[in-house]
Amino acid sequence: MHALEQKILTEGIVLSEQVLKVDAFLNHQIDPVLMQQIGCEFAERFKDCGITKIVTIEASGIAPAVMAGLQLGVPVIFARKYQSLTLNEDLYRSKVFSFTKQTESTIAISNKHLCNKDTVLLIDDFLANGHAALALVDLIEQAGAKVAGIGIVIEKSFQDGRKLLDEKGFKVESLARLQSLENGTVTFVR
Ligand code: 5GP
Repeated sequence: MHALEQKILTEGIVLSEQVLKVDAFLNHQIDPVLMQQIGCEFAERFKDCGITKIVTIEASGIAPAVMAGLQLGVPVIFARKYQSLTLNEDLYRSKVFSFTKQTESTIAISNKHLCNKDTVLLIDDFLANGHAALALVDLIEQAGAKVAGIGIVIEKSFQDGRKLLDEKGFKVESLARLQSLENGTVTFVR
């Protein structure tokens, strides 16, 4: 996706050979115009998949997921990382190892929002080693729902997540695919 790649080149900051900072438009400050374009792109790529719900993870997946939900006309559920006092109903829970924090945490979705009739599009901001995506898949499968596909805003193709998800047979659509972050420079898969 050209507009996203341009934004990464102009406003992304390479923190290391493994980590790209995108808090100027996605992870902290959000560019709503770009998010809308991202939502349209996801909707286009998954429009024939019979999606009934979108599932993402707080916080950074929410903006692109909501825009995709708007375009597809379906509700968006975000898995919560912290036990909220109001989240007191029955929960689907899974453990996820955080790439950026290097700690394990539990994520949860209330069982009232997902059921075995749902066909789900999973959306996240980054794909690194695939832990977050697989934890979301686990929550969706606990509900007996079907994972129709996985939409990723920025895939770091030099890490293991893409291969893992491909091997499991998921339809993965990434809007920007990073070949490398070596020498402080972003290069894309072509
Ligand atoms: P994974 O679970 O695939 O290893 O990592 C994906 C999760 O870690 C995403 O939800 C994202 O929040 C975070 N993440 C992974 N790589 C990066 C990165 O290079 N930059 C930022 N900002 N977040 C990342």
